[in-house]
Amino acid sequence: MASYRELLVSLRRQFPQPVSDPEHDAYVAFSVLRALDQVDRLKSRVPILGQPVEPDFAAARLERVPECGRSLEEVIGELVRHLEGMVIWGHPLSQVNVVPPPSTASIIGVLLASTYNPNLCSEESGRGVSAAEVRAASMAAELVGYEPQTAGGVFTFGGTGCMLYGVKVGLEKALPGTLQTGLRQPAVVLASDQSHYSALNVAGWLGLGQEHVIRVRTHDDNSIDLAALAEAARSALRDGLPIAAIIATMGSTDAFGIDDLAGIYELREALVDEFQLAYRPHLHADAVIGWAWSAFNDYDFVDNPLEFRGRTVRALAAAHYRLRHLPLADSIGIDFHKTAYTPYVSSLVLFRERTDRERIGRSRASMPYLYQFGRHHPGMFTLETTRSGAGPMAALANLLLLGKHGLRTLLGHAVEMAEVLREGLEAHPDLTVVNGKNVGPVTLFRVYPPGTDTFTIKQREAGDASFQPQVEEINRLNRRVSERMMADALAGHGVLLSITDCYRHSDFGAPIAALKSYVLSPFSDAEQMRSIPQRVLEARDAVCALPGS
Ligand SMILES: *Cc1c(COP(=O)(O)O)cnc(C)c1O
Repeated sequence: MASYRELLVSLRRQFPQPVSDPEHDAYVAFSVLRALDQVDRLKSRVPILGQPVEPDFAAARLERVPECGRSLEEVIGELVRHLEGMVIWGHPLSQVNVVPPPSTASIIGVLLASTYNPNLCSEESGRGVSAAEVRAASMAAELVGYEPQTAGGVFTFGGTGCMLYGVKVGLEKALPGTLQTGLRQPAVVLASDQSHYSALNVAGWLGLGQEHVIRVRTHDDNSIDLAALAEAARSALRDGLPIAAIIATMGSTDAFGIDDLAGIYELREALVDEFQLAYRPHLHADAVIGWAWSAFNDYDFVDNPLEFRGRTVRALAAAHYRLRHLPLADSIGIDFHKTAYTPYVSSLVLFRERTDRERIGRSRASMPYLYQFGRHHPGMFTLETTRSGAGPMAALANLLLLGKHGLRTLLGHAVEMAEVLREGLEAHPDLTVVNGKNVGPVTLFRVYPPGTDTFTIKQREAGDASFQPQVEEINRLNRRVSERMMADALAGHGVLLSITDCYRHSDFGAPIAALKSYVLSPFSDAEQMRSIPQRVLEARDAVCALPGS
């Protein structure tokens, strides 16, 4: 048995050296390379790493801490093993969900933050990386149309965290002092029925209660029905219920629905007058997906210097038309890890008025061990104490790397590929695009049994009572086609799509499922997109030919 001193000597080699030691640096870099190299060996033509193995949770539960540690080489092997079966998000045939492949620059941002471990709680522990957070926040603020001098932002744990901050600040506006005294009366949150479920989560966790999220109906372009929102808001206020927040969904997850933020803003202003409110109901824009389209705010859609196709320009302009109103929101949730190609987690909540954050601040006296030096202490109002520098460094890396042109190029390409797909789907009678009014990179579509009259099918599925039993049957067909396509893709032919169990409910409450293609990969290309309709039909024919169908 080695003495602790002997062990210590070898363990010291397992850390980047505190004093310059190029030879050891080479060993660290080489170890990283070794890991990458092992992962590389898992790559093939298919859009996953290695074989499509199922994660073994039973074996994982049996795992215990070993008495003796293992070598770095062995640990690398163990870690790489866990990547087996991972979808390669950057693969052109992987169109599963809103998951981007991270750029090299953003990976380096994470690596640097991980290596030197700044804590963004305070400038004492974050130093220059704390300034990187402010820098990225200012760039994003200007991009979405806020005044960077008066706006303020903080990176947090996901779009969900952004929403938590937005609603919490809103709650303090509606019921001041709640942070101190706790919630003593009910209040409501208004959001569309297409809003992300994190609105429910946030209301639950804040003690507002999920039942107090009023989910307002949407139009068939998945944007909130303003008249219904007005009615819901008035009804709550008449009942004496304060509005903790109105959430505008600026790019919904499955359908890229974009609410009319300007309309919501005007409604909010009108409500303040009409009900003589002592507060302005907080308006949070859940723009975690849509915010990046702000890069098109000063794009010349007429000259179209980046030479997008006509359909693409129209889609980009339509999204821009709604997203340009983002600065009307009091707070905005931004996920760099969705539409700006960074690793998880890189989310920024921006406040139009930086001073809004003081509503959720704590006194210095309650945190005696912190904030001894400097003036920049986000930890005085953040929910988190320790915050990683990885998210801000990744975000900063990509904002610098891409610039507005780069963002426009990546997003424009994604939309262009989606348009190519939609064109192909629309051309075939057995396929229908169900989010046809969509202007983003996601395409939802359904496949029908051969010979279905798809000309009227969408109306019948949504609004014809006698057709409802068939809706579930067609859902089942789509699910089986999706499974079949998944198996094909993993076997090396075809594209990895996903399925949403309910892209919308029919007027009779039946969930309507849809196949989903979410394009984000910069490597996607038009030819591959054009092959998808044929693949889907082949999968359908294969499924329909099976006994028992
Ligand atoms: C993904 C998503 C969220 C949640 O964001 P996370 O970063 O996953 O926490 C919220 N709203 C919308 C519209 C989303 O797509």
